[in-house]
Amino acid sequence: MVAYPLPRRRSRTVQVGGLAIGGESPISVQSMTKIPTADMEATVAQIHALQEAGCHLVRVAVPDMRAAEALGAIKRRIRIPLVADIHFDYRLALVALEQGVDKLRLNPGNLRNPEYIQLVVKAARDRRIPIRIGANSGSTDPAVREKYPFTPAGNARALVESALGHIRILEDFGFTEIIVSLKASDVITTVLAYRLMAAERDYPLHLGVTEAGLPPEGLVKSSIGIGQLLAEGIGDTLRVSLTADPVEEVEAGWHILRALDLRQGGITLTSCPTCARCDVDFDPIIRAVKARLAPLDRRLRAEGRSLRVAVMGCEVNGPGEARDADVGIASGVHKGILFRHGEVIARVPEERMVDALVAEVEALASE
Ligand code: SF4
Repeated sequence: MVAYPLPRRRSRTVQVGGLAIGGESPISVQSMTKIPTADMEATVAQIHALQEAGCHLVRVAVPDMRAAEALGAIKRRIRIPLVADIHFDYRLALVALEQGVDKLRLNPGNLRNPEYIQLVVKAARDRRIPIRIGANSGSTDPAVREKYPFTPAGNARALVESALGHIRILEDFGFTEIIVSLKASDVITTVLAYRLMAAERDYPLHLGVTEAGLPPEGLVKSSIGIGQLLAEGIGDTLRVSLTADPVEEVEAGWHILRALDLRQGGITLTSCPTCARCDVDFDPIIRAVKARLAPLDRRLRAEGRSLRVAVMGCEVNGPGEARDADVGIASGVHKGILFRHGEVIARVPEERMVDALVAEVEALASE
């Protein structure tokens, strides 16, 4: 169990394969593959890269029967739960369930025929597979949309009403293994929609600002939207949607959770922005430190162990930050002063700063 530094909304727990979402479970990081699912080798390779980066749950799009029939083979080769993303075609959902996926992302209202919905719900219930309902501002029912003003508050209410429509369909079948997302590409709408839904139902909430764009804009929008909600205690799992390699989505998700102290694991790297006082050639130093610590960062993430590392450019703020970190280095004129747990342990020339710092971090991690 995690001791949360922020108050957290009480949600029910929904089990997705071996991963619990909601309740007191740690907030999980998700992503989605970005290649044709029917290309099994490439999909598995991308999921392995995501696993390695600390992804807890991965979604794949299932646009056709070839993709649906590849799901079982994909699932057998990965370690994290697999989510099938399906729209409109109930047969794809049934095949995905037969293939052993751990969750469906599906809006039951889009299947239209109640018989088809019933078949999918029965198959999901028999296998104890949850369903994520995902209301998206780009695909809100026009009849619902027109009821509300075209303002962030109106858009948020339309999103929630749309999601509640799908939720009620499942609830009418007695199905409550539900996770909900309410995604808009606009941050304010996203935040308002999740707040409304948090007051309506206790299902776990999957956070995200959809179609957030390229980094850095997409990172900023996602961090503000997801971060605002998490700081209010709302949210049980998240995806940072970026027009980028999905591994970047996972990295960003972890950074958001670590910034709010909501997830332990990995290396938090503090570095100064540099200024005219900087005593060393800082940019190559910090880039080398980040690159060389990346494998250890991932290993510590998987182990749930955290380390704080500081790299600072001069003697003004450097020693203070370096002392506060587990391992830190504060630059002097063409040299570095290495700290471990607040104590000076070495003075090294500029060209040895990276080696000395990385060696000390690795030594501390192995203890
Ligand atoms: S630590 Fe020194 S070099 Fe870095 S920003 Fe602060 S004053 Fe400038």
